[in-house]
Amino acid sequence: MEKIYYDVVIIGGGIAGLRAALEIAANCKSKVSIAVMSKYHPLRSHSVVAGGGISGALWVGDSPELHAWDTIKGGDFLCDQDAVEMFTQLAPKEIIKLEHWGVPWERNKDGTLQNAQRMGGHSFPRAVFVGDRTGHFIVQSLYERCLMYDNIEFLNDHFAMSIVVSGDKVNGLTALDIKRGIIVGIKVRAIVIATGGLGRIYRTTTNEDQNTGDGMVLAYKIGVPLKDMEFVQFHPTGLVPHGYLITEAARGEGGYLINAKGERFMKRYAPERQELAPRDIVSRSIMFEIMEGRGFETQDKLGYVLLDLRHLGEDVINERLSNVKETTMTLLDLDPAKDPIPVRPSEHYMMGGIHVDNHGRTCVKGLWAAGEVACVSIHGANRLGTNALTECVVYGMLVGRDVADYLEKDGQTSTSASTPASDTLKEDMDNNEDKILELLSRKDGESIYKIRRSLWAIMDEYVSVIRSREGLETALSKIKQLQERFTKAYLGDGNRYYNTSLINALELENMLILAELITISAINRNESRGAHYRADFPKRDDVNWLKHTLIFYSKEGPKLSYIPVRITRWHPTERKY
Ligand SMILES: Cc1cc2nc3c(=O)[nH]c(=O)nc-3n(C[C@H](O)[C@H](O)[C@H](O)COP(=O)(O)OP(=O)(O)OC[C@H]3O[C@@H](n4cnc5c(N)ncnc54)[C@H](O)[C@@H]3O)c2cc1C
Repeated sequence: MEKIYYDVVIIGGGIAGLRAALEIAANCKSKVSIAVMSKYHPLRSHSVVAGGGISGALWVGDSPELHAWDTIKGGDFLCDQDAVEMFTQLAPKEIIKLEHWGVPWERNKDGTLQNAQRMGGHSFPRAVFVGDRTGHFIVQSLYERCLMYDNIEFLNDHFAMSIVVSGDKVNGLTALDIKRGIIVGIKVRAIVIATGGLGRIYRTTTNEDQNTGDGMVLAYKIGVPLKDMEFVQFHPTGLVPHGYLITEAARGEGGYLINAKGERFMKRYAPERQELAPRDIVSRSIMFEIMEGRGFETQDKLGYVLLDLRHLGEDVINERLSNVKETTMTLLDLDPAKDPIPVRPSEHYMMGGIHVDNHGRTCVKGLWAAGEVACVSIHGANRLGTNALTECVVYGMLVGRDVADYLEKDGQTSTSASTPASDTLKEDMDNNEDKILELLSRKDGESIYKIRRSLWAIMDEYVSVIRSREGLETALSKIKQLQERFTKAYLGDGNRYYNTSLINALELENMLILAELITISAINRNESRGAHYRADFPKRDDVNWLKHTLIFYSKEGPKLSYIPVRITRWHPTERKY
């Protein structure tokens, strides 16, 4: 076991975490020590795969107000409107800053910035992008800029296991150094959680393996509530059967969705915007087509529809959708210029997450959250495409600035690496060491991978695009059985060094907690709003449900409460596209 000290640790090396690190380094007058901890190398963080673009009102004819309205309507009026207004005001500056830091945005022949109508629910073409590899370029630029600061260190291949609170403040955190297999305790003055989403709870997901929601559990276990956990976004066009993302930019460039009768069926559900309606509407529409017998079926009876790009022509596909082509060629040996692509909804994004205020602060002093792991709430019940990357940079910046301010003002001076860890941190390290030893010492039992497959099947079947109380209650009782089975499960590998089964086990434990919280939150919301569609309550109910769900940890089990949505200028209306 090892103890070290940093003024601030950022858990997560994706776009939100890197952006926060830069802002702290740039805003602290004293040279504070900053660590970016991540279980994968930052250049392999999930953010790298973001394809479609980032949004901001940068052009004549657009405005932050219009961007805010699109976001609020897209979010089915569950967004906190003051947060959205601040977010859309700050977005353009952040996008320009990214360019100054090296992101090569696509440009027109005359050198002006290129924009596109790539994502559903936006009423102005405000996506800025680099081909369909936007996230890759943003991560590269932020990472390189972090390397310019000698007080930003990277703790790669570290798995954060718990956060320690002393009195009313964070005091430290405990992590597993994956390479060496040892427990590390870090004394801190501040922590930012930026660990991204939880898509891997589902079998059919667009998310990377690392997206197991660990950061939400870190916060939940120390008493920070999670907010709006029932709102899980499904992307309409997951490649069949894998669920791999076919970017929305494919529809943004003019792709059609076709059912087994050859119809462009979206005209039935969103007559004006059709394929460019928001994701919740398009995902539901695809599921209705499949359920009503107008879909195709794989040999395994998996329903799907077709995404047709053939009319766009080979040049557009090669230039603007090269990643789509690479994906379909690699996984299905299918050329989208010649054949339509089989698609169905795939889990994509978590609108809910750690309950934070407009500065990304949690209710624990010294603890912030930013990016997909947090719920401000900007996206409400349904996020618009390209708004996630904007949130990562805007909130990375805001949180970084607030942390810097806190570090400057909290009166403590930096303590050296030799500072003794508090008793609570030592105790926490011992507990985590015992936990690792116990997991590694198991000699037999059910495979953790079998339990993970069972979790995937439950979530895909009952906690997906179309939900009902009966299905959700079935899911809840099955998830509780899996939690019980997990306590006796077998890793299959007792080694301490770079033990991926051990990491998979720790992740599974977190995923089982989050699956329960999503399901409980979904059972209790008796209405349909955004991505939460209840077949038994198919209408939105503003009288009873225009409110956020909070879910708290308690020894007796999760406890729910509700807080109002903050409405400023835009009153909820019927959502038509
Ligand atoms: C395929 C795909 C395409 C997308 N395209 C777009 C797009 O075009 N535009 C858009 O706006 N949004 C897009 N999104 C959404 C967007 O990419 C994400 O919301 C965003 O990148 C999340 O960034 P983040 O910084 O919050 O987290 P991430 O990039 O997920 O980073 C999380 C970090 O936390 C680390 N971590 C996790 N758990 C632990 C732990 N226990 N200990 C230590 N480290 C940990 C990870 O290793 C990683 O470094 C897309 C999503 C997907 C799945």
